[in-house]
Amino acid sequence: MSGGGKTGLTATLNRGWWQTRKWLVLRRVSQLGILGLFLLGPLAGVRIIDGNLSSSLLLDTVPMTDPLLFLQMLVAGFLVPAGTAVLGAALVMGFYLLVGGRVFCSWVCPVNLVTDAAGWLRLRLDLHGGINLARSTRYWMLALVLLLALATGSLAYELVNPVSLLHRGIIFGLGSAAFVALALFLFDLFVARRGWCGHLCPMGAFYGLVGAVSPVRVRADQRAACDDCMECFVVCPEPQVIRPALKGAEAGRGPVILAGECTNCGRCIEVCPQEVFAFGLRYPNRERGQGSETRSSPGLSKGAAT
Ligand code: SF4
Ligand code: SF4
Repeated sequence: MSGGGKTGLTATLNRGWWQTRKWLVLRRVSQLGILGLFLLGPLAGVRIIDGNLSSSLLLDTVPMTDPLLFLQMLVAGFLVPAGTAVLGAALVMGFYLLVGGRVFCSWVCPVNLVTDAAGWLRLRLDLHGGINLARSTRYWMLALVLLLALATGSLAYELVNPVSLLHRGIIFGLGSAAFVALALFLFDLFVARRGWCGHLCPMGAFYGLVGAVSPVRVRADQRAACDDCMECFVVCPEPQVIRPALKGAEAGRGPVILAGECTNCGRCIEVCPQEVFAFGLRYPNRERGQGSETRSSPGLSKGAAT
């Protein structure tokens, strides 16, 4: 396995700097660009998007509502205004159903900037250890969020949701943003590898469920060329999703990464020296030149590393 500092080196030598960082750069442009659009209103009076990641209005016309927030409102028994909140949640859900739920995590969420930085530094410093959380913990967190809404009749989780707190803090200049960012950074750096996004975040869990059916996927069509360098596993924030597609040929599994936890970040695509991966669609899920399609099965990601 490559050491943290050398990850992507072979790919860079083979294909150059841009081809091995293209998706990473575009993701950062997307994350910072979306923050910038929200900031244009308060800072420059240019109103392209009003509001925040929980609820916003694009060009004074298109409503966008966080679907998990909407779900909490329903469970809490709020009288949901029939128009904008429903339309806003439907538009956002439709988008993520199409492109992959956890595209929110890697292309939009500001917390990802912080946790990726902690993940990068952890790799550079070769830090190991910390607590070992089960990746399924986030689904229990999601259930807890909905139970809280049901029991309290309020949006209780939103008072402590780091995603909302960080985003609102950046947009409205609250000092709490720095505290939230620092706490998440230190947690991921010293307490648990990819601890927040990969193990605890209920929003990540929610979008993971949404993304399980999305047509846009990462495919390992060239998996026969894999030389087991492990670079993709090192950079992937959810490495357990890779093995079924990459190593499942003998078990009759197709080359598509089907787990909803994949964030479609594209890092595996660009660091792989053998160019095994590419963005594509979930169908057909079969080896090149093979006639029969291999469907997903619920047990695909079982037994994968956490
Ligand atoms: S898929 Fe590519 S990066 Fe991953 S182990 Fe195989 S050769 Fe290495
Ligand atoms: S499998 Fe690839 S695209 Fe999916 S999360 Fe891992 S590195 Fe990102």
